[in-house]
Amino acid sequence: MVVEIRNPKFKSIFILNHNFEHNLKVNSKNSKVLIIGGGIAGITAAVALSRLKIAVTLIEKATALGGMVPNYCCKATDACQQCGVCLLNDSLQALSQASNVEVHLQTEVTDLTLDANKFLYTFSRPGGGGEGRAEALLLATGFTPFRAEDKPQYRYGILPNVITGLDLERQLKETGSVVRPSNHTLPTSIAFIQCVGSRDPHLNHPFCSRVCCAYALRMANLIKYKNPQTEIAVFYMDIQTFGKDFSLFMEKTEKQIRFIRTIPGEIQKGDNDQVWLTFQDDDGLSSRKQAFDLAILSVGIMPGSDLEFFKDKLGLPLNGDGFLSEANEIFSSKGIFLAGTVRGPKGIAGSITQAYRTAEEVAAYLKTRPV
Ligand SMILES: Cc1cc2nc3c(=O)[nH]c(=O)nc-3n(C[C@H](O)[C@H](O)[C@H](O)COP(=O)(O)OP(=O)(O)OC[C@H]3O[C@@H](n4cnc5c(N)ncnc54)[C@H](O)[C@@H]3O)c2cc1C
Ligand code: SF4
Ligand code: SF4
Repeated sequence: MVVEIRNPKFKSIFILNHNFEHNLKVNSKNSKVLIIGGGIAGITAAVALSRLKIAVTLIEKATALGGMVPNYCCKATDACQQCGVCLLNDSLQALSQASNVEVHLQTEVTDLTLDANKFLYTFSRPGGGGEGRAEALLLATGFTPFRAEDKPQYRYGILPNVITGLDLERQLKETGSVVRPSNHTLPTSIAFIQCVGSRDPHLNHPFCSRVCCAYALRMANLIKYKNPQTEIAVFYMDIQTFGKDFSLFMEKTEKQIRFIRTIPGEIQKGDNDQVWLTFQDDDGLSSRKQAFDLAILSVGIMPGSDLEFFKDKLGLPLNGDGFLSEANEIFSSKGIFLAGTVRGPKGIAGSITQAYRTAEEVAAYLKTRPV
């Protein structure tokens, strides 16, 4: 039997193969999976495992579940832009109805060993701690957004009207509009700078973050929808494709937003707290300057801060980009599984799809693991 989970606002279908449930009933009776990380990937995996009647302990170090997604705004204009943000609500609701899932917030694993096919761990949380054991481990510890201060030429944190994509997500979510932090007025001109911290050999981050073209263009469309008079320019190298109807989306977007194929070298302060962007002219030889009311740095997805801990405790290899290697076989033979951005950059829908797939892999492992 196959079950479809459908979100009417977002054209995605996640398919869970319930043959596993049937097959696993006997063998998984006492199985227990430890999931570390309660973002969209960890929550989805917990729900999927619970539907397969596998008991789960979900450990999250923050005070709430959801990971990075609760920071983001709904990007709908007159129509849904399929950003995926509202999928978190559905996942949280599914989790609240799930049986067999124990959630521990504000909890951190302090030690972790793999001994005779069992994971033994200790954890701490306010007011105490404890220990536990699990038969499989699923890491869903997510990512860290690029620190815009690490590109000092853009003067983030120094010029008030230079903000990041994450700041803009929060601003739109909290207030519903975009303002210049210097004086809280509507900007009449906005520049988005793409690939900030990603595809950057100088920072040793050659990889594409895969989500920042999508979030930046969807937010640019939203701003334009709310304030049609605002001029928006996007400085870019390449636009990463996304979504089901990407060509149609771009056709519409290009009608209202100016695309400039170059990445600015630096940002300087202008009069009235404007920001001056220096960039290469079309001829590729001379440089140009242009002033904007607001600059938005499209920061990307960097490896999570706790990966060294797991690398040290379990001897897990990190790939060249600093994420846990995609070579899942090395991990899964030991009962270690990965879901979401801990494996590398991806969006919400991609993290959900992968978490479902990983839950099925965990289920298959529990069925055949050596005891
Ligand atoms: C600025 C920005 C905007 C974005 N906008 C969109 C968008 O509009 N649409 C979209 O599809 N994607 C967007 N993304 C990508 C999106 O954030 C990710 O796809 C999504 O958050 C991945 O979920 P995750 O569960 O893998 O990781 P996370 O969201 O990072 O969650 C990981 C969780 O693990 C917890 N954790 C970490 N280490 C530990 C530990 N040691 N112990 C316990 N808990 C731990 C963290 O506290 C966190 O709760 C955006 C990304 C950025 C940077
Ligand atoms: S949050 Fe995103 S996917 Fe959900 S309704 Fe808004 S635009 Fe659509
Ligand atoms: S998704 Fe777009 S902005 Fe982000 S790194 Fe890739 S090309 Fe650059």
